[in-house]
Amino acid sequence: TVPAAANAVATTCAYCGVGCGVLATAHRDGTVSIAGDPTHPSNFGRLCSKGSALGETVGLEDRLLHPEIGGRRVSWDAALDAVADAFGRTVAEHGPDSVALYVSGQLLTEDYYVANKLMKGFIGTANIDTNSRLCMASSVAGHRRAFGTDTVPGTYEDLEAADLLVLVGSNMAWCHPVIFQRIAAAKAARPEVRIVVVDPRATATTVAADLHLKLKPDTDVALFTGLLKHLADAALTDTGYVEAHTEGWHAALANVAGWTVDRVAEETGLAPSDVAAFFAMVAATERTVTVYSQGVNQSACGTDKVNAIINTHLLTGRIGRVGTGPFSITGQPNAMGGREVGGLANMLACHMDIEDAAHRRIVKSFWNAPVIADKAGLKAVELFDAVHDGRIKALWVMATNPADSLPDAGRVEEALKRVPFLAVSDVVAATDTLRHAHVKLPAAGWGEKDGTVTNSERRISRQRAFLPLPGEARPDWQIVADVAQRMGFGEAFAWSGPHEVFDEYARLSGAQNDDSRDFDISGLAGKGEAAYADMAPVQWPVRAGGAPATRFFAKGGFYTPSRRGRFVVTVPQTPAAKPRRFPFTLNTGRVRDHWHTMTRTGRSQRLSAHMGEPFVEIHPSDAAAHGIGAADLVAVSSPRGAVVVRALVTDRVDEGALFVPMHWTDQTSANARVDRLVEAKVDPVSGQPALKFSVARVERF
Ligand code: SF4
Repeated sequence: TVPAAANAVATTCAYCGVGCGVLATAHRDGTVSIAGDPTHPSNFGRLCSKGSALGETVGLEDRLLHPEIGGRRVSWDAALDAVADAFGRTVAEHGPDSVALYVSGQLLTEDYYVANKLMKGFIGTANIDTNSRLCMASSVAGHRRAFGTDTVPGTYEDLEAADLLVLVGSNMAWCHPVIFQRIAAAKAARPEVRIVVVDPRATATTVAADLHLKLKPDTDVALFTGLLKHLADAALTDTGYVEAHTEGWHAALANVAGWTVDRVAEETGLAPSDVAAFFAMVAATERTVTVYSQGVNQSACGTDKVNAIINTHLLTGRIGRVGTGPFSITGQPNAMGGREVGGLANMLACHMDIEDAAHRRIVKSFWNAPVIADKAGLKAVELFDAVHDGRIKALWVMATNPADSLPDAGRVEEALKRVPFLAVSDVVAATDTLRHAHVKLPAAGWGEKDGTVTNSERRISRQRAFLPLPGEARPDWQIVADVAQRMGFGEAFAWSGPHEVFDEYARLSGAQNDDSRDFDISGLAGKGEAAYADMAPVQWPVRAGGAPATRFFAKGGFYTPSRRGRFVVTVPQTPAAKPRRFPFTLNTGRVRDHWHTMTRTGRSQRLSAHMGEPFVEIHPSDAAAHGIGAADLVAVSSPRGAVVVRALVTDRVDEGALFVPMHWTDQTSANARVDRLVEAKVDPVSGQPALKFSVARVERF
């Protein structure tokens, strides 16, 4: 990191859920310099390659700078009228469930809050879902099953204080680099710290592991089922904690009978000695944190994986105390903020439940809303199914590119072509989604607007503007509020700035909340614009007049009806056999220096130099069997289509497995949109797509 200028603005990184503090300085010549914020408690000045290159990505080339209808520049009035009119008419003719918003973990909390309020309280549908559904919905669902609410119990400090870190389905060294740097520093200071990585693929993270469990894809539930049995057999049940604060342990323990080391080894494909070594390490280490990410969440059994992990922490009482706990790390900069404002189709604002009549009353009355959505809306994959088959007739996409990022992306693109009305708010002028938009709305981007984000450790930080709004771009919250006003919902959407949106949101979090809900930031309400401008990073809860709490559940206090943590019975499923025509398992994921569909990172030559083109990792024996040499062009196909990418012949993947990065699109590289190949299979509880497990075949191109 470099020293920051005196006029630097403290803000937060635009990328991952680590949520690093950044000092940004805009110079007269139009350049921007970037430094890590040494005072930010999530990164203490550290940045990764993506964060430190943020200044290289803020130019105005390829930006959407003016509203457009049908490809022609129009006034804001005309564009906003068109959206309000299309939504109003569609609701009048077909009912509220015929319209939908598909939003993004890239939005700021204030943007998310306003969009959610419009849909759930004023239009009267919960058809608002988010690309965060692709990122952490299984963690949300697992938390709600176990804790009664979506709480991350610990903090990043717990990762540094742990004596054993179990990283499951996480290439943290590339995808959450600054947390990884903090862990690496802790291990350098205390070499006795042990790291176990559970991942079917060898990665930059497994290089740092004391033990790499290279298990078969989607067999994690078997591993943690066996671990639960081992911990119980080793008399490591914290009986006092379990009996005082939990429920369901008898059924959970009955479920693990028979899951011996040998059976776990057979199911997961691991060596029995490695399974036994892992179980022994966990058994011997009180301060254990289990960190999990997309390899857990993006799975047809993702929620069960989360609960199988949480069960082991409930049994041992290793939760909420320093250096302990299950810990989900989120992909996007504001996936957590989106969860908190209720940006998912199955939640209300401030962690209130759509199924709970009392919660619906609180929100409706606080908003003075004419209606309140009383049933869950369509989750991302089902939402685009409904667009495809005509049930959704007006769709507004904000800050995301579903034509590239959703599974079965070709079908999603067909849906976007068919929908009678499509509005897209975006920062950039061209994406595979934008080209189908009837109305394009230029949104303000990172560094141009003000608001807040929440990172993976529940820390709310300010994003601050340090650049002027380009062209006619506007902040997303304002665009939504302007549409809401045109739809006749005036007063409820008449904020003068994001500080007023945040204040309303903070007050709602405390409405009738006598510790019956975890999410409460009412202590941040009523402070005024200047305090909002200066707001320091803070972890929730921040209850009005209450003592701050950085960790949850050390002494119980769960948010289930009984206030007890729930063990969940999770039954390991053997992944279905692959069809003969598609004998490979296709895994997708990130590379170190790109982000999502590269609309920002693709602007930086430095970042693009790390991995210059899309590729497929293939095992040497598979490559030989298919006549594929290093760097050959290879067609990877599934029943839904094909991509053409460069062969990276490596034993990082096992025989029978392939890995293709998710970033390249039709805008950046012809025929490399890998999510076109991925089946639209979802976890039945969370609705999160199984983006890491499709069937495929390979051929030399
Ligand atoms: Fe940004 Fe994440 Fe890197 Fe931090 S770790 S600088 S938040 S991309």
